[in-house]
Amino acid sequence: MSERNVPIADRRYAAPVPEVPDRPQPPTGLLADRRGRRLHDLRISVTDRCNFRCTYCMPKAVFGSDYAFLPQASLLSFEEITRLTRLFVAHGVEKLRLTGGEPLVRRDVERLIAMLAPLTTPAGAPLDLTLTTNGSLLARKARALRDAGLQRVTVSLDALDDAVFRAMNDVDFPVADVLAGIDAAAEAGLRPVKVNMVVKKGVNDHEIVPMARRFRGSGHILRFIEFMDVGASNGWRMDDVVPSAEVVRRIAEVFPIEPAEPNYDGEVAERWRYVDGAGEIGLISSVTQPFCGSCTRARLSTEGKLYTCLFATTGKDLRALLRGGYDDAQIAAAIGAIWSARDDRYSELRSAQTAGLRRIEMSYIGG
Ligand code: SAM
Repeated sequence: MSERNVPIADRRYAAPVPEVPDRPQPPTGLLADRRGRRLHDLRISVTDRCNFRCTYCMPKAVFGSDYAFLPQASLLSFEEITRLTRLFVAHGVEKLRLTGGEPLVRRDVERLIAMLAPLTTPAGAPLDLTLTTNGSLLARKARALRDAGLQRVTVSLDALDDAVFRAMNDVDFPVADVLAGIDAAAEAGLRPVKVNMVVKKGVNDHEIVPMARRFRGSGHILRFIEFMDVGASNGWRMDDVVPSAEVVRRIAEVFPIEPAEPNYDGEVAERWRYVDGAGEIGLISSVTQPFCGSCTRARLSTEGKLYTCLFATTGKDLRALLRGGYDDAQIAAAIGAIWSARDDRYSELRSAQTAGLRRIEMSYIGG
């Protein structure tokens, strides 16, 4: 392979091979890290490719036509993903989220869903199986995803104004097609549909109230996400963040809302409900109110690297174990050792010192 063709993603994200303990202990389902946080959620990135070029996530200047995405042989196969997922479930994972890149551009992703759907917790309970998508292919695929065993879906939509949305996704994709995808998902039974809006000051913050108006009373749950300093290519500045408190204030001026109790301990989104009963919204405030203390999420990259924080700079190469002939007990023990050693709390420590770190890109690890 010529120098020019070396996939830069592989080099950029070089990760150490995890140590395999000499005498592997079987998983107990109760794994906890050094801060007492359980391993409860697994986010699986099924591709680093996306058909959008959202300016705050995969800007064209970085992810242009010459960008070297991962070659097919690097990706975990569906069999490899399922094998690893089974081991994570033995350690206590109860919730799976497929993400990317854009997960619906991975060919036959329904087949992966059909392989994951039958997995159960050690106590025999079904897992929560969901997927995050930009919605562009959802109208076409919602029924097949549901039939394969997907339970719910989260759709990213940053504006209702067509010109604003087309400029943000930077591939001129229309709002109407994403709305059609949301409708198709709801009709197929992938409910409640969550709609994620990343708010960036001066870009789409004037869409906060129109978005709230559109999704009130629809049965869908709109969630506002603070623009985060993930990756190293989106030019993040604190000045671009609209704090969740400001989002609440703007909505409350038009539609009275009141705080609602979390659905469960460690829920990422803070819930607010419309006083008139028209449903609820969520606020995800990873910048102004970090929730590291209750973070129970592990992230598996497209080529099998395990990250224990969205803001991590390195992961651990589980694919090397999968393809290196290790058995399930050994790989499970390696995962257990990584999680037990986990001490991440990036968002709590975020400061001038962390600004220069070479963090992994959101499009690589998924949201
Ligand atoms: N392509 C899928 C999608 O659009 O939902 C899944 C991957 S995308 C990386 C997951 C989520 O991360 C999207 O809702 C996206 O808006 C969000 N996201 C990307 N960059 C972000 C940033 N800098 N701050 C906050 N959210 C971000």
